[in-house]
Amino acid sequence: MKVPVIPHQRLPELLRAMPKAELHIHIEGSLEPELIFALAERNHLTLPYASVEALRDAYAFTDLQSFLDIYYAGASVLLHEQDFYDMARAYLVRAAADNVVHAEIFFDPQTHTARGVPIEVVVNGLYRACADARTELGISASLILCFLRHLSEDDAFATLEQALPLQDKFIGVGLDSSEVGHPPEKFARVFARCRDLGLHLVAHAGEEGPPAYIWSALDVLKVERIDHGVQAVHDAQLMQRLAAERVALTVCPLSNQKLCVFPDLADHNLLQLLEAGLAVTVNSDDPAYFGGYLNDNFTQLFAAVPALNAKHAYQLAFNSLEASFVPQADKNAWQHQLKACFERFADHQG
Ligand SMILES: [Zn+2]
Repeated sequence: MKVPVIPHQRLPELLRAMPKAELHIHIEGSLEPELIFALAERNHLTLPYASVEALRDAYAFTDLQSFLDIYYAGASVLLHEQDFYDMARAYLVRAAADNVVHAEIFFDPQTHTARGVPIEVVVNGLYRACADARTELGISASLILCFLRHLSEDDAFATLEQALPLQDKFIGVGLDSSEVGHPPEKFARVFARCRDLGLHLVAHAGEEGPPAYIWSALDVLKVERIDHGVQAVHDAQLMQRLAAERVALTVCPLSNQKLCVFPDLADHNLLQLLEAGLAVTVNSDDPAYFGGYLNDNFTQLFAAVPALNAKHAYQLAFNSLEASFVPQADKNAWQHQLKACFERFADHQG
């Protein structure tokens, strides 16, 4: 589509209004401090923070690990199916308000099973929230089970076995948590098994880790999308391949800023990736911890990088719909809505 020229001052409104998919959101990372405290009270737990404000003040991260330490502490309040439902519901309400038409939601079963919470409690609560959101909020949502890469492949296999009776409730698997020192190869066998099971495959690669991790995510794990992938710019051959194969990158600007991958959003390389022809998407990662949901990621990035314009906005939203794991008919319908949204903005100029 030839994207109409839309004045720069109308970009925030356009970015908020455009229909889009979110493909990189960890549901445990959507737990707001208020909900953490409410769930702690409901479950009769004592938190090591005096107040919501004290917890929020602890969200000053220096790197991925400093975030993960607090993230796992926050998730410890989740015990019952209703807790998982309430967490996912809160996210889906926020996403629907951001005009997210489809979300593919990561969850970390090992964070919960290690605390004695059965995997069906986790999956059933999240799945019910997704099903209800479809009818009550008009947003489509599905689940992707992520393996924690700082744990062993045997642990991932055990988790997969526990999850198999629930296989109709998630569409794929991913790989998250501490990246450096835990290359994709570590999970080659479990990903091969998931591939045989017909699950979609994604993996975090090239957030803090080197381009080599992106190569092995593609060639060893055979993933369909790369989560983050921003370090690809350091490898020209990899950039060419990602562009040629239209491998989607689920980039998370505010996460990258907060975890000091790009301490200043103005230095973020998303525009460079996009202009090299990569299928870049914008996502929120862990919105409760990184200062914003999807529309905040879009509006803050576009404000920080003035060269980003309506054409880029269209491409980013289009890419997110294209890279979704949904039937082509759904993609077509949403992309039609996207086009109509941009035409509406062009018609109401001046
Ligand atoms: Zn992530």
